[in-house]
Amino acid sequence: MPDSGGPAAPKSGSRELPRPAAKVLFGRFELVRLLGFGASARVYLARDLRSGHSVALKAIPKGRVAKNSLSHNVVREIAIMRRLRHPHILRLLEVLASRSKIYFVLELARGGELFAQVARGRLPEDISRRYFRQLLSAVGYCHSRGVFHRDLKPENLLLDDAGNLKVSDFGLSAVPEQIRGDGLLHTLCGTPAYVAPEILDRKGYDGAKVDVWSCGVILYVLNAGYLPFNDPNLMAMYRKIYRGEYRCPKWTSPELRRLIGRLLDPNPERRITVDGILRDPWFKKGLGEEERTALAKFHLAETAEAENGKFWKSEEADRALNAFDIISFASGLDLSGLFGPPSDRERFISAETAEAILARAEDMGAKEGLVVRRRGEKGLAGVVVEGQIGNLVASVVVRRLAGGLVVVEAEDGGGAAEMFFLKEKLWSALKGPATEPGSSASVTDRPRQVS
Ligand code: AMP
Repeated sequence: MPDSGGPAAPKSGSRELPRPAAKVLFGRFELVRLLGFGASARVYLARDLRSGHSVALKAIPKGRVAKNSLSHNVVREIAIMRRLRHPHILRLLEVLASRSKIYFVLELARGGELFAQVARGRLPEDISRRYFRQLLSAVGYCHSRGVFHRDLKPENLLLDDAGNLKVSDFGLSAVPEQIRGDGLLHTLCGTPAYVAPEILDRKGYDGAKVDVWSCGVILYVLNAGYLPFNDPNLMAMYRKIYRGEYRCPKWTSPELRRLIGRLLDPNPERRITVDGILRDPWFKKGLGEEERTALAKFHLAETAEAENGKFWKSEEADRALNAFDIISFASGLDLSGLFGPPSDRERFISAETAEAILARAEDMGAKEGLVVRRRGEKGLAGVVVEGQIGNLVASVVVRRLAGGLVVVEAEDGGGAAEMFFLKEKLWSALKGPATEPGSSASVTDRPRQVS
């Protein structure tokens, strides 16, 4: 259903000053308001003018990413999020880039952070159980596909408008390639109060067990309204984590107390597993067989695919990562280095052949009564679109990239009519029928303001 959310037009006769025109990015996303900001990004509520739907637009300045050597995190977050499809994992719909920023187009979680709810006070056990089940279902799904979040905390758990949990922020997550020869992960990461003891002793850790620990801290926080391990002195807090030194509040039921104890076991070998949690009495309470099966579905579905490594090793996945690598790594995240001096060209990356893309441009030009001539040289193919009197309307160049990808560049002939033709007609012909969200990487050098 289309949402309204854009600025209202001032009423005639009203003494209100007219509001400034809304900012529209890529001719498509109208920025409505700021939703929040993280360490390296601002997140805006935006309206997709094409579909009328509201989305969250996460703007990551390339400069900040390059300066803090975060490009690996961004590429990893893209690669991971676009492969995960689960009702309790925030969907990454598309990735766009301007000269200075990378934009993630994300499913909107209107309910905000779960943290905000807990900050107002502890939750009743039944509500905590509902969130915890949804969290576990998402975590189990990730683990069965070899993805470990490593930074689970209430701030990274968002809620949709129906109050369902959406796990977000995969910027620190790990995939199997990061596991060393000893079968363990070694990167120090996470948020101090949620970090598992084995991360602190730096001998390597199992990503699944670390996520289970963080789920334990989250469950404790939902039930208590405060953290299990806390101390103004960081070293003292780490000591408490290391020893598993915490106390459950008095209102905690014995079943919940027992589960928290098994989640917050400082010995990762003894700590409960995702399968164990599914069988736990507190977790199962009031859960029908059907619901239980649905919750544990992650475990059955596509496990063979995960075991075969198909989830990560598919050719399609490699290709997609390739395109995003290009966006993220070109000249320290500035695309101009990859494609020459700054120009007014529009670009996108595609997995289609040059022939298929250019054939559509020819068809479209013919329909518009224009002359479309092919041109090409080594590694390049293209068309020139001309008007009836030989005037240049637009030109298109397709360059081949490694991994079966091409970059398509188009430029208009300079006038307003030519610009309109490129924007309104040629561009969509080149891009072809709508691809699945997130399957192509659009790169526009000129995110335009449209009022
Ligand atoms: P992040 O940089 O991903 O940690 O996001 C910063 C903040 O923006 C979050 O803590 C949320 O308050 C908000 N936010 C991020 N993603 C979304 C989303 N998809 N829907 C609604 N709010 C979001």
